[in-house]
Amino acid sequence: MKIILGNRFGIKKEKITILLDPIISDFHSFISHAHGDHSPIEIIKEPFATKETSALLKVSNPEFSFKEVSYNKKVKLDNFSFEFLNAGHILGSSQIYFEFDGFSLLYTGDINTKDTFLIKKAKPKEADILMIESTYGYPGYKFPNQEEVVNLFIKWVKNQLKKGYKVEIGAYQIGKAQEAIKILNEFGIVPKVTETIRRYSEVYKKFGIKLNYCSAKENCEDVLIKPVQLIRKSSSKVKTCVLTGWALFRKLNHLGFPISDHSDFYELLEYVKQVNPKKVIVVHGFTKEFAKEVRKRLRIDAIHLDESNPEISLKF
Ligand SMILES: [Zn+2]
Repeated sequence: MKIILGNRFGIKKEKITILLDPIISDFHSFISHAHGDHSPIEIIKEPFATKETSALLKVSNPEFSFKEVSYNKKVKLDNFSFEFLNAGHILGSSQIYFEFDGFSLLYTGDINTKDTFLIKKAKPKEADILMIESTYGYPGYKFPNQEEVVNLFIKWVKNQLKKGYKVEIGAYQIGKAQEAIKILNEFGIVPKVTETIRRYSEVYKKFGIKLNYCSAKENCEDVLIKPVQLIRKSSSKVKTCVLTGWALFRKLNHLGFPISDHSDFYELLEYVKQVNPKKVIVVHGFTKEFAKEVRKRLRIDAIHLDESNPEISLKF
């Protein structure tokens, strides 16, 4: 069996070709979640995705179609089976658990092993091979208690409003923006959102998540949630901030609150321990560093898949 980098990630075993989060969907393709760095730009053959991921991706690509599968439903194909398991990251996000003849493989997509305001945490499932992301997989990357961060964030927002400023919050349009809405709602604030964020938020509502927000043109509270890339520096009238885990580890141009929908380094290690794999393949983020730490701290065979090591042969 081979694990290959290119068109994101490929698995080749005899006649089976599986593509994980491919850029061009073909063969047996699987989409772990709706973020741009995991979703297709072209579909030759329909990929499998959860209903939620399908609905989110159709917001920007209404012509796309998917083979929709619910969570925790085992689907048997010719020579293998698969199951989508909650990944705790954004609406619809999934770990994908594959069973081949005699062994199993778990692909995490992006994973979060702590509850957020919107999504229940991911639970590990034992597997022989684990393909794992490592966005924050670097020693020392530890998120503070998320409730404390949320309290600081809300305190800051309320302070700005009290002083008569408008507030603009930068957040990724899928996932973080809806979490920001939910957090503000919990503290009695109904924010405005940009049109695209509104359309993604409608999908969250369709799947039963309660969110209260207004369009940017409506006369609501002076708090606007917009995409991170549209956030400008604070001015004499508008105070700005962004919500991202990177606020903790990188110098940003804005005030940042480290609210994250990823696991940190220590949570990733604990997750690997519980999956209890024979082999770990680190596919995104700090690939080399995290593989090294898994070998060192957990004594589990681990290797990185990236440009410097684009193909891995396994005895499975
Ligand atoms: Zn993601």
